[in-house]
Amino acid sequence: MSPSDYHFCVVGAGLTGLVYAERIASQLKQPVLLIDKRKKLGGNSSATIDRETGIEVHDYGSHIFHTSNETVWNYVNRFASFNSYRHHVLIHTNGHVYFMPINLKTIQEVSGKAFTPDEARDWMASGIHSAVVPRNLEEKAISLIGPVLYSLFIKGYTAKQWGRQPSELPPDIITRLPIRMTYETEYFNSRYQGIPSDGYDAMFKRMAETPGIKLLLNTAFSEVAAQLPQDCLVVYTGMIDEFFGYRFGALEWRSLRFERETVPVRDYQGTTVMNYGDETVPYTRIHEFKHYHPEWEQSFNADKTIIFREYPMDWKPGLEAFYPVNDERNHSLLQKYQHLAETNPNILFCGRLGAYKYWDMDKAVAMSLEGFESSIARRHTWTTSLQL
Ligand SMILES: Cc1cc2nc3c(=O)[nH]c(=O)nc-3n(C[C@H](O)[C@H](O)[C@H](O)COP(=O)(O)OP(=O)(O)OC[C@H]3O[C@@H](n4cnc5c(N)ncnc54)[C@H](O)[C@@H]3O)c2cc1C
Repeated sequence: MSPSDYHFCVVGAGLTGLVYAERIASQLKQPVLLIDKRKKLGGNSSATIDRETGIEVHDYGSHIFHTSNETVWNYVNRFASFNSYRHHVLIHTNGHVYFMPINLKTIQEVSGKAFTPDEARDWMASGIHSAVVPRNLEEKAISLIGPVLYSLFIKGYTAKQWGRQPSELPPDIITRLPIRMTYETEYFNSRYQGIPSDGYDAMFKRMAETPGIKLLLNTAFSEVAAQLPQDCLVVYTGMIDEFFGYRFGALEWRSLRFERETVPVRDYQGTTVMNYGDETVPYTRIHEFKHYHPEWEQSFNADKTIIFREYPMDWKPGLEAFYPVNDERNHSLLQKYQHLAETNPNILFCGRLGAYKYWDMDKAVAMSLEGFESSIARRHTWTTSLQL
């Protein structure tokens, strides 16, 4: 079949595109063309098993699947079983390592006192001047957690993440800062979490192998668009502003650069993700991937480990887009593109790039399962019944 024979085309083989393609093929029993401009499946959740070390490297930084949504969990378990990995995040700051998000253990280590939850709240509140209306992110953060925790855990990390001092950033970037008045050190509160037991790539391949899906990697939408039939329904998971040629201007993102190193040691940092709070350290995080699969230990080249140092950077068209910038300018720009999109009923913009949203993988799956039902399955049933 050539592109002109397909009445469904999914652009982007990230998790969103994979779910849409799988649903169209398995539920509607319709052939679907799934394309991606990259050489690999999985979008930003993709991972590669390194030949030399046997370590699964997450190509775009650490990705941990976690959800409390039963439907999503059951769905992904059709394509993979998950290991029992539980995520913890640590932060290296001012010569010490603490658990994040800030919890009773962190506060005890900072204050040197074994507080009860109420005492810890009082200690934290003692530096807060609640009468001040925050004019910037620094004042907002201090109003939420006080100056001591702010300067250790937020100030340097935020400055590196945004490339600007928190005192120069708007206060509405944060509404709250996660603080736990318990000794719980697990990062996620989700009921289910883990890493696919045989790796993300194996999971994505199983999804793409659903009968009816024709996969074309290394293929941009612009290469097939003109060949698609007029009534083809396009599920577009790329950037909405790029699709419209940035005609109102570009939506802003933060980007990241990863510096990869194979280090000749068995264990580099003893954990998967270590944040760095000090501004003197140029990166924000180090990822060490072998810890995501403790059950693979026997198959690793024991004397080596792979790390990524993560550096935030400004985004410009052509770079990888990681985090949307949620401010007024981008919000109103997005609305303009969304109005324009409404005039194209045969194109459905979705996924994190189409919706200009930060979504975890479970949210991307949930939105795609819902979007398939509400925008495609119903429409298909309706058009099929009209043709009868
Ligand atoms: C730094 C970082 C860490 C994260 N960590 C986690 C985590 O630990 N746990 C978690 O649950 N989630 C995490 N996420 C979120 C996760 O990455 C997203 O939920 C997921 O990538 C969403 O998938 P998607 O398919 O919507 O988008 P993407 O994965 O971005 O896929 C979009 C695909 O579309 C393709 N494409 C775009 N335009 C075109 C075009 N014109 N033609 C052809 N192809 C095109 C792209 O090449 C890409 O493959 C993280 C995100 C970031 C930024």
